[in-house]
Amino acid sequence: MQYRKFNKINERVSLLGMGTMRLPEKEDGDVDEREAIEIIRGAIDSGVTYVDTAYTYHNSTSEVILGKALKDGYREKVLLADKMPIWLVRDEQHMEEIFYEQLERLDTDCIDMYLVHSVEVDIWERAKELNLMSFLERMKAQGRIKHIGFSFHDSYEFFAKMLDEYPWEFCQIQLNYMDKNHQAGVKGLKLAAQKGLGVIIMEPLKGGRLTDAVPPAVKALWDKAEISRTPAEWAFKWLANKPEVTLMLSGMSSKPQLEENIRILSSEDVAELTPEEKSLIDEVSDEYNRLIRYSCTGCKYCMPCPKGLEIPRILRYYNDWCAYEQNPSTKAEYITWMEEGKRASDCLDCKKCERLCPQHLHVTKAMKEASEAFGI
Ligand code: SF4
Ligand code: SF4
Repeated sequence: MQYRKFNKINERVSLLGMGTMRLPEKEDGDVDEREAIEIIRGAIDSGVTYVDTAYTYHNSTSEVILGKALKDGYREKVLLADKMPIWLVRDEQHMEEIFYEQLERLDTDCIDMYLVHSVEVDIWERAKELNLMSFLERMKAQGRIKHIGFSFHDSYEFFAKMLDEYPWEFCQIQLNYMDKNHQAGVKGLKLAAQKGLGVIIMEPLKGGRLTDAVPPAVKALWDKAEISRTPAEWAFKWLANKPEVTLMLSGMSSKPQLEENIRILSSEDVAELTPEEKSLIDEVSDEYNRLIRYSCTGCKYCMPCPKGLEIPRILRYYNDWCAYEQNPSTKAEYITWMEEGKRASDCLDCKKCERLCPQHLHVTKAMKEASEAFGI
């Protein structure tokens, strides 16, 4: 495993961090706890020293499962990160209750890295109204938190402002070669690092969108490379090549994924890219941006939908439809798997999802397009 210095925190951390938003699930949609614990422990056994969770992940079960995984001496081997879901908080008393519930779920006395979750303009305003930072400082003084940071999903301009709003110790941004100019982007990464902050990257593989099924036009571009690499390898190398990146969180949902990520991020030359390779990645990024209609990361912040629509799944089918040249099998799969009454054409146009989507996607427009494309 490769390690980097975590600015301000004064720790050496693994370049790969274990995210717990995409743990393996059983057929009924619940997390496969045994498998999840094996993956988390497998990551730590392979040298991962940073694990991240949140109050809302996996219908609030991620923290509990992570707490179980960190028993038997694993807790001491990692920096544990968790976040305050300010959008759920009713008042200051409730904020405190959520925080103590998190400690209980994780079965720990102290959270090493505590973040204001998913900061956007409105969330930050609400955090200030609720005196969140004073509360976090109190928790820090009591030894319940070690370091304070924020995770971010808004514009670069607001990110630059956020960096000066509080003496943050670290921040977490979404970044991958497709999103280089999206949200904080590469510009935000460099600015935060200039200010001395450690920067944690989320969505390095865009929720698996850059690796799961490579469209033919993208594959043709990768085939031009002198050295053949997997899509995950290209995506991680693009980030590792930036010295401002402290670590990359990957939400690993299977052992093969974990093994591949460990292999890539343990390689001594993971940060090396030739100028030709960098321009090839730029070409792939342009091609993806041309093909993918709705840049959904699969984070599920928009859920639940009052009509029961599985929004990210529908967007995925529709993106595939656009990327794979209207392949009939995409339509057949959509018709087979999307339950009657919960298809794109059932969208109520209430826009609840759009208000919650950190990517600011026009979900209702996508639902109309998908229902036209698939006929239901
Ligand atoms: S706009 Fe449509 S997809 Fe979005 S929450 Fe409402 S019903 Fe669900
Ligand atoms: S539509 Fe937005 S909120 Fe919903 S899963 Fe996609 S990116 Fe996340």
